Amino acid sequence: MAEVEIQPWLFELEPLPGESLSHFLGRFRRPNHLTPSSLGQLAGVGAVVARWERFHLNPPPSQKDLEALAKVVGVSAERLAQMLPPKGVGMKCDPIRLCGACCGENPYHRIEWQFKSVWKCVSHQLKLLSKCPNCEAPFKMPAQWEDGCCHRCSMTFAEMAKYQKSC
Ligand SMILES: [Zn+2]
Ligand SMILES: [Zn+2]
Repeated sequence: MAEVEIQPWLFELEPLPGESLSHFLGRFRRPNHLTPSSLGQLAGVGAVVARWERFHLNPPPSQKDLEALAKVVGVSAERLAQMLPPKGVGMKCDPIRLCGACCGENPYHRIEWQFKSVWKCVSHQLKLLSKCPNCEAPFKMPAQWEDGCCHRCSMTFAEMAKYQKSC
């Protein structure tokens, strides 16, 4: 595997607090015109990026994978690891869930929403949504969240907050 140098022509961005790897990789890929497979090639990790973006993390990315990816995206391997579930925390990769009230503050996907043990947003005391409350479409993979709204009926994630049950 060839040594990957820092790619100075790539557009880099800051990760958001609690942001999931899937959401971050989508945000990184779009302005850089990279597909999951071309990002995998560039990083030298092979055809695993699409699986990571679907939260298919069995096996999880190795330390070596994260270091290789870190060089391309300009974020440390440690920071990338924080976008994944901590060791021992079970993930639910399907359905994708969200808190509309959090999305009203900033519409990005938080990794903890996919933890098996999590079913509500602790900041808002609201039950997480697992599909669009207006048209019932499942939410897209966070890597494909671009507009902060339902891809079918265009209701914004922020507007969905009013459908969340308080708990
Ligand atoms: Zn919330
Ligand atoms: Zn909808």
